[in-house]
Amino acid sequence: MSHVVTESCCNDASCVYACPVNCIHPTPDEADYHTAEMLYIDPAACVDCGACVAACPVGAIKPHTELDDSRQVFLSVNAEFYREPRSRPLLAPFVPPLTVSTRHAPLRVAIVGSGPAGMYTAEELLTVADVRVDLFERLDAPYGLARFGVAPDHREVRKILRLFDRIRDDPRVRVLCGVEIGRDRTYADLAATYDAVVYAVGAVGRRLDIPGSASAGVASAPDFAAWYNGHPALKNRVFDLWHPRVVIIGNGNVALDVARILVTDPERLASTSISPYALDTLRRSGVEEVVVVGRRGPADAVYTLAELIGLQSNSEVDFVVAAEELAREQRPDARVELLRKVSARSEPSRGDRPRRIVLRHHLSPTRITHTGQISHVEFRRTGPTAAEQVESISAGLILTAIGHHGRSVAGLPFDHAAGVVPNEHGRVVDPAHRRIVTGTYVVGWIKRGPTGFIGTNKTCAQETVRALIDDYNAGKLTGAARELTV
Ligand SMILES: Cc1cc2nc3c(=O)[nH]c(=O)nc-3n(C[C@H](O)[C@H](O)[C@H](O)COP(=O)(O)OP(=O)(O)OC[C@H]3O[C@@H](n4cnc5c(N)ncnc54)[C@H](O)[C@@H]3O)c2cc1C
Repeated sequence: MSHVVTESCCNDASCVYACPVNCIHPTPDEADYHTAEMLYIDPAACVDCGACVAACPVGAIKPHTELDDSRQVFLSVNAEFYREPRSRPLLAPFVPPLTVSTRHAPLRVAIVGSGPAGMYTAEELLTVADVRVDLFERLDAPYGLARFGVAPDHREVRKILRLFDRIRDDPRVRVLCGVEIGRDRTYADLAATYDAVVYAVGAVGRRLDIPGSASAGVASAPDFAAWYNGHPALKNRVFDLWHPRVVIIGNGNVALDVARILVTDPERLASTSISPYALDTLRRSGVEEVVVVGRRGPADAVYTLAELIGLQSNSEVDFVVAAEELAREQRPDARVELLRKVSARSEPSRGDRPRRIVLRHHLSPTRITHTGQISHVEFRRTGPTAAEQVESISAGLILTAIGHHGRSVAGLPFDHAAGVVPNEHGRVVDPAHRRIVTGTYVVGWIKRGPTGFIGTNKTCAQETVRALIDDYNAGKLTGAARELTV
């Protein structure tokens, strides 16, 4: 048998390059890498050498003999990916090492933002010997959403922080926390001081824009996640969990993370990195039911199969899916198949368990009203058989998990529709004058939009750093060749 990739896969592809027989796919040079929910080991090709285990920064790869009951399903999840024959070379792709051919050393780079994109950019730059990297972070603590987004009970995924610590501790790197570029220092400051500036500023949670959505009782799920992860700007925020129901609008992985935290026994969370004030609030919580609502059908949900497997295998939590909503779903989808199994078994057990997660579909929110402290979300039914029907769900707290969107960076061009800084392979482009803004780069969510996983930022950083080093070698980042303003 073989090794198996499990739910905490972060797609950083370190395993791909470590594998001597090229049995982990999709690889970053394959078209489906950018849409893959995780990477998969081909059980027929794996030679069980374990090289991938050491390479994985989040402990996602296990020998099949070490899979516990809840993870046995990943044997078939991995194998299923290879059901259709896949043409591939004998060896994994080779990434040529970066070399600096000019000698204006050291190369001085400023990185704005210390989330995964910023940290992977620093890691990539450190492959060049004579380099100095300063990371500017507006918060008092580094690592962005890897620290303040990833759920505290996702212990394996949070191991990525150890990798970032190792990068931070390199003597060629300085992480300068509490410095916001645009407030404490300007773009022009950085451009004048460094050979290159890389923006890795991420994106912010989208706000729901319907009547009543700005009122008390409505909050963003990413803010709620940041709160339970101890984000400095949210630690004094009060999330009142007195009512038995919370509604989450949106059904991606963030929605499922937040739902899981709300219904998990707080004593199980006590040994995680959850902030003490959030644990205290959860211990006093009256929440019994979290309703996660999606606009479209179950096959259109944004959460991944791996996230769903993790959630439904929690034996303490009841997991309810409306059978009639599943019956209407005709498209083949591994998540829907799993939901059908869950739905079949959930009805009889419902009474035994105090807390549950309810998945609802085909409901589009239209307005939120309030009666005292209780909020009522009005939904319009959508979908193939929906007549013009309205449904209202009441709750003490409404959380919105409807994705992220980039914010403009002072001094840089910005594509407001896409929420990204226009760029070519990471080089910032000024579309008005159709020219490259020399010495200025982007990486991560502000470069490609808020998609992918933590490790997707590694390949993204490799592309940006390669462009930067090419420009450096071409003599574009020094002296008169530099344009300091847009
Ligand atoms: C709630 C949540 C949970 C998630 N969980 C997972 C998970 O379990 N597994 C997974 O693979 N992916 C997860 N993700 C996705 C993952 O976190 C992102 O892919 C990744 O963080 C994006 O990296 P980034 O560096 O572009 O942005 P960010 O992580 O947002 O980092 C941007 C950084 O820039 C800083 N910054 C912004 N502006 C400035 C400025 N002007 N000056 C200085 N600093 C600035 C910010 O403070 C922040 O630290 C999650 C995302 C969310 C929202």
